[in-house]
Amino acid sequence: MDETKIAQLRNQSIPPARHFIDGAQVSASDGGTMPVTSPIDGAELTTLARGTHKDADRAIAAARGAFDDGRWSGLAPAARKKILLAWASLIEAHALELAVLGVRDNGTEIGMAFKAEPLSAAGTIRFYAEACDKIFGEIAPTSPGALGLVHKQPVGVVGAIVPWNFPLMIGAWKLAPALAAGCTMVMKPAETASLSLLRLAELGHEAGLPAGVFNVITGEGPVVGAALAQSHDVDALVFTGSGATGRKLMEAAARSNLKRVYLELGGKSPNIVFADAPDLNEAAKVSAAGIFRNSGQVCIAGSRLLVERSIYDSFLEKFAAQAKAMRVGDPLDPATHAGAINSESQLARNLAFVDAARAAGRRVVTGGTRILEQTGGTYMAPTIVADVTQDDPIVQNEVFGPVATVQPFDTEAEAIALANGTTLGLAAGVWTRDLSRAHRMVARLRAGVVHVNTYGGADITVPMGGMKQSGNGHDKSLHAFEKYLDLKTAWIKL
Ligand code: NAD
Repeated sequence: MDETKIAQLRNQSIPPARHFIDGAQVSASDGGTMPVTSPIDGAELTTLARGTHKDADRAIAAARGAFDDGRWSGLAPAARKKILLAWASLIEAHALELAVLGVRDNGTEIGMAFKAEPLSAAGTIRFYAEACDKIFGEIAPTSPGALGLVHKQPVGVVGAIVPWNFPLMIGAWKLAPALAAGCTMVMKPAETASLSLLRLAELGHEAGLPAGVFNVITGEGPVVGAALAQSHDVDALVFTGSGATGRKLMEAAARSNLKRVYLELGGKSPNIVFADAPDLNEAAKVSAAGIFRNSGQVCIAGSRLLVERSIYDSFLEKFAAQAKAMRVGDPLDPATHAGAINSESQLARNLAFVDAARAAGRRVVTGGTRILEQTGGTYMAPTIVADVTQDDPIVQNEVFGPVATVQPFDTEAEAIALANGTTLGLAAGVWTRDLSRAHRMVARLRAGVVHVNTYGGADITVPMGGMKQSGNGHDKSLHAFEKYLDLKTAWIKL
C-alpha cells in the first residue's frame, strides 16, 4: 500500500453525499441531511442525505422500471457479464481511494479493509459475472406427450440492507449475484458506513450499468430501510445486520407482499481448543486475530474461547499475551492491527457488557477500557473476560466488539454442549490433531461454518450463512444465486 497516497487521501475533503437513484445523485425529498462523524478522531467528514419514505419509493420505482422494461434482465447474460467485469476493473483501479474513504467512515484498519473491502468486492463481482452465462434451465423427465421445461428467471427488484462493518464486501455479496442474475436493486447502507457504497454505485454507472439497475439510498434504518421492507414493489429483501432488525423485516414482509426475506444475522461463535491442538502458540495467535481484528466487529468473530481444562491456564496466558501485543489505533496506519470502534454508542455498548461481567465477579484478564481518548476517536483495548458461566449475558449475547470470553471444559461432549448453548449459530472453530474428533465436531456443531485448526479463513467459492437465529439463506458461492432466481415451469403438450 502506498502510504504517501493514504496520507493524501485521508485529508481530502468529501463533498456532501447524496442518494444514487436512477443513475444520478439525488438529494433527500425534503432536503434533509445527517452528519458523518469519523470514528478515527471524531471529526465531521461530510453529510449524507437523510432519506425519506418518498426517496425510498423513488428508488424502488427506478429499480422497478429498470427491471420491468428489460433493460437489464433482457440483456444477453454475456452482455451483463461484460459490464460487471468492467465495474470490477474500475473498483480495482480505485481500490485505495475506496478503502481510505471507507476507513474514514467506519474505522476498520486499512490493512484489513484494503483487501476485505474494494479488492474483495471486485473479486465477488468478477465471480458472479463469470458465472452468469453458465446458468442453465432443465428439461424435466415428463410423461410422454409433454415437454416440461424449467426456466430460471430473475426474481425482480431486490432490496438490500447492509451493516457498517464491511459495507463493500457484504454489499458485493448481495449486489453481485443479484445483478448477475438479472435483478435490479435498491441498497440501503448503514448510517455510519455509506460513503464507499455510494462511490461504488457511481463506478458501476461509469462501467455501463444502465440507470435504475443499482440504486443506493442513505438515511435511518427505521425510515428508509423499513420502507424497503414495507414496499409492495420489492420482490425480495436481503439483509445483514442484527437479529432485532431482522425480525422487524420479516414482520414487515408478512404485512406487505410476503416478499422473500433472507437474513444474515449475528454470531456468538465458539472457538474450541483441545489440548492436542497441533500448535498452541499458533492457536493463540490465530484465535486472537479471530476476535480482535477490526476490533471484533466481524460477524463470524470467535468471541467465545472454550479451552480444555488441562491447558486452560497456560493457553489463557498465551492468548492474553497476543491480545496485549495487538496494536490498536489509527486505522489508516498500515501497521495497526485493530482500528476504531464504529461509533460512540457501539463503544458504550461494548463497555457495558464488560462492566456488568466485572460487577458479577468475572475476571477481566486484560483490557476492558476505552483507550486513546485524546485522539477524539473511539478505541477499545482488546478485552478478555475469563471464568464466565454459560448464562452470563456476555456469553449469551453478541457484543460485536473486541471482547472474548473464556471458559474451560473437560470432555468433548461438554465442549459441544457449551458451544451449541446459545441461540446463535454462525461460525465455530476447533483445534485438534485428532482427525476423527475434528469430523465429529464439524458434524455436531450447529454453525454455518466450522474452521478446523484455523479461525476465519474463507473465499467466495464457499457459502456463508447462519444456523438457528443467525439467519437463513446463504451469501457467497454459486448457491447465492438461489436467492435471486425463481423457477418457472413451461408445460407443453406435444
Ligand atoms: P443493525 O441491524 O442495527 O443495522 C443493519 C442495517 O439495518 C443498517 O443499514 C441499519 O440502518 C438498518 N436498520 C436498522 N433498523 C432498521 C429497521 N427498523 N428497518 C430496516 N432497516 C433497519 O445492525 P448493525 O449494528 O449495523 O450491524 C451489526 C450486526 O450485523 C451484528 O449483529 C452483526 O453480527 C451483524 N452482521 C452479520 C453478518 C453476517 O453475515 N451474518 C455480517 C456482518 C454483520
